[in-house]
Amino acid sequence: MANEINRKDFIKPAYSAETEGKVRYGMVIDLKKCIKCDACTIACIAENHLPPGVVYNEVMEWEVGEYPNVRREYLPRPYMQCEKPPCVSVCPVNATSAIRKIPQPHFW
Ligand code: SF4
Repeated sequence: MANEINRKDFIKPAYSAETEGKVRYGMVIDLKKCIKCDACTIACIAENHLPPGVVYNEVMEWEVGEYPNVRREYLPRPYMQCEKPPCVSVCPVNATSAIRKIPQPHFW
């Protein structure tokens, strides 16, 4: 598929001479797996005791294609500031994963 990217190319922009030797954190969301159940949104609201109407982790959605070949696409937008993100553990399809330390890649 044209939008596929390999792992090495995906994490390469996170590294530069400025970040050499420093620990980096990241979050990966497999958009092909997301079913927009909103469990991550609810977990985030509960964990952060957010007041009504305030959402840090919105899951956006839109429709693509033309009738009769249409489908919904979903895009979770986590705040990504949690040390232990509750949105990761509640995802029923394992679409989300947090990376504590991205190992320094070797580019050759
Ligand atoms: S919990 Fe997982 S499947 Fe549900 S909306 Fe969030 S990312 Fe998508």
